[in-house]
Amino acid sequence: MKIQLVPTKNLLSKSKIPGVDFVINPYVGCPHNCIYCYADYMRKFTGHTEPWGSFVDIKQPLTPLKPALLFHTHVMLCSTTDPYNPLEEQYQLTRRILEQLVQAQAYVSILTKSDLVVRDIDLLKQLERCEVGFSFSSVDKSVCQQLEPGAASPDKRLAALKTVSQAGLFTVVMAAPLIPGISDWKSIITATQEYTNEYRFDKLNLKPGFQKKVISFIAANYPHLVPLYSDIYLKGNLRYWQELAQQINPFCQQQKISSTIFFD
Ligand code: SF4
Repeated sequence: MKIQLVPTKNLLSKSKIPGVDFVINPYVGCPHNCIYCYADYMRKFTGHTEPWGSFVDIKQPLTPLKPALLFHTHVMLCSTTDPYNPLEEQYQLTRRILEQLVQAQAYVSILTKSDLVVRDIDLLKQLERCEVGFSFSSVDKSVCQQLEPGAASPDKRLAALKTVSQAGLFTVVMAAPLIPGISDWKSIITATQEYTNEYRFDKLNLKPGFQKKVISFIAANYPHLVPLYSDIYLKGNLRYWQELAQQINPFCQQQKISSTIFFD
């Protein structure tokens, strides 16, 4: 893993995500190294030629965040890295950012595949408004090991979800990306329902130029799924996602689960 400290003028990025004012990515790169990671495109902007997952830039902010600018704004951590990737344990960048967001009375959304977030419950509880999201494309340990080799195991994530929920924080399960033929959305709900306030479902998006990597992975590990992937991603057939939404929607309504499907 290539690790470097990079002086950074501004940690804040204006967000195009609906309802989110700013995004903070304290790191460039992500050791979780998910096979499907769309943030791979960050290499282009940062001059990295190494494979995604094999480098991390640790941002060194030159100035603190401006509390007046952030007052009652919605700040998301993160969009192109994981705020609790394993390096956070040592460098504590996310923790220092949260300390400033508490001072600024910002609203904060966290999204992670790590159990390290429980370390910061003391700060998260001081925020005016906060939601802690855990991503699951699967709760099957061997599937996660294949898809997200550097992330915390699903058991660790589930334990962290329980701890965060029991601390009284609002919790979100991001059932995403749903990997065709592999992700089992119902088992994700079953494993998390007791400790989850809200669900969000999203599909695996494969932008052109990125398809090859994932489809090669599928061909090597799940060859029986190649026709399905070809149908969805090469022919652009939306039927798989339409049928999936038609299963998820009534199930969530029946179970009185608060949910949003982003591919509906
Ligand atoms: S945790 Fe998120 S940012 Fe990190 S590799 Fe996985 S998908 Fe990418």
